[in-house]
Amino acid sequence: MVVKIIISEKNCAGSECSLCIYYCPHEVLGISEQPSRIGGNLPEVIDLDNCTVCRLCEIHCPEMAISIYKEE
Ligand code: SF4
Ligand code: SF4
Repeated sequence: MVVKIIISEKNCAGSECSLCIYYCPHEVLGISEQPSRIGGNLPEVIDLDNCTVCRLCEIHCPEMAISIYKEE
C-alpha cells in the first residue's frame, strides 16, 4: 500500500489550528518550519509509515486542506 498525504498550503490555517495533528492517533503529522499563509506554521508529515489511512485528520480539518490518498 502506498500512502500520500497532501496538505494544501493555500487552504491550511496553520499551527493555530493543528486539528489534524491533534486527532492523528499515530503521530504521523507535526509542525513544520514553513509559515502558513494565515498564521503560524504549516503541518508536515513526519512519519508516513505509521499512517493507517484512518482519515481522522481529513474528517476534522475545518478547511478541507488535508487529503489522504491510498494506492494498493
Ligand atoms: S489518515 Fe489517520 S493515521 Fe494517517 S495521518 Fe491522518 S489521522 Fe493520522
Ligand atoms: S486541520 Fe487542516 S487547517 Fe488545521 S492545521 Fe491541519 S491541515 Fe491545516
